[in-house]
Parts: sequence; structure tokens; C-alpha cells
Amino acid sequence: GNDDKLEYIKSKIGTFPDFPKKGIVFRDIFSALRDPTACKYLKEVLVQLVKEKCPNAEIIVGLESRGFLFNFMVATELGIGCAPVRKKGKLPGDLISVEYVLEYGKDIFEMQANAIKPGQKVIIVDDLLATGGSLKAAIELVRKAGGNVIGSFVVLELEDLHGRDKLDCDVYSLIKY
Ligand code: AMP
Repeated sequence: GNDDKLEYIKSKIGTFPDFPKKGIVFRDIFSALRDPTACKYLKEVLVQLVKEKCPNAEIIVGLESRGFLFNFMVATELGIGCAPVRKKGKLPGDLISVEYVLEYGKDIFEMQANAIKPGQKVIIVDDLLATGGSLKAAIELVRKAGGNVIGSFVVLELEDLHGRDKLDCDVYSLIKY
């Protein structure tokens, strides 16, 4: 069943204390993706969850950079398109942007202005939900582009940080810490 698959995936996630800086426990999804069975299971459970929760999604937006592992994959399985949210300076053409606050300083997310059609039903995906700052900014950006955010998906959720409390859309996660 799904619980066995999720247990298996979790057992393959790498844990790196004090990376990239002291006090952060880094959860490394790439450790799991080296394992072919974990890859297969992760694809199956994520696609199933999206189909169950947001079957009417029209486009899936992935956050740079590990969100890109999942947005294209889910898009092909659902028969919809995908689009990126990237850090400032990476995308060509007309852009919309949003500033967000990091622990130290600020950063800017950008999307291509024509990525989303007005009123389109959008889902957002990233590898991990920590403080929720990134996903919050991405939601704001998609709305600025005229999109209707119907749900957000992450593979890993660090529950102690209460990131989901910052987000005013439905948030679904597969594996909790
Ligand atoms: P946040 O904006 O705090 O929710 O952080 C989410 C983004 O930072 C995600 O794109 C994650 O890939 C990355 N991230 C934050 N904390 C961790 C962690 N403990 N382990 C791995 N990635 C993390």
C-alpha cells in the first residue's frame, strides 16, 4: 500500500545535520532519487495524491530548483502543462515578480508573464516545506499572474516550522518530519 511506499521513500531520504549552516537539518531528496524503487514509488504516490486532491488542475508550477523534478513529471501524467518559478534573472521575456523575505535579506521570484492564463486552475509543487516563505511567495506570484491556486504539494514537510499556517491554500504533503 501507499504507507509502505512512503515508509520506503522516507528510509532513503538523506539527513545532513548542520547543512548548509549550523542548526539546519538538511533533508536530502536526492539520496532517495538514487534508488530506483524510491523513484518509482514517489512518482506513483505523488501522481495519485494530485489526481485525488486536484483532478481539475490545468497547469502545475514548480519552484526552482527541486520543484522542477516534480512539475514536469506530474504534468505529463495529468495531461496538463507546467511552468517554472525562478530566482531573479534566469527567465527571458516579459516577467512578473514578487519579493520575499529570507532569514537574512530578501530575494525575488519571477515567472513569465504569459505562463498562466487568467482564471486558470493552478497547482504548485516543491520538494520540501520548511518555513513556508518560498511557497507563500510563489502563491502570491501565481495570483498576481491571474491564476487560481487550487492546491500546493510538497514531498517533505517539516511540521515543527508550521509553514502551512502561512499559506492560504490547501497544502498536501507526503512525508512529515
Ligand atoms: P521555506 O521557504 O523555508 O519553506 O524553504 C523551502 C525551500 O528551501 C525549499 O525549496 C527547500 O528545498 C529548501 N529547504 C529549506 N529547509 C530545508 C531542509 N531542512 N532540508 C532541505 N531543503 C530545505
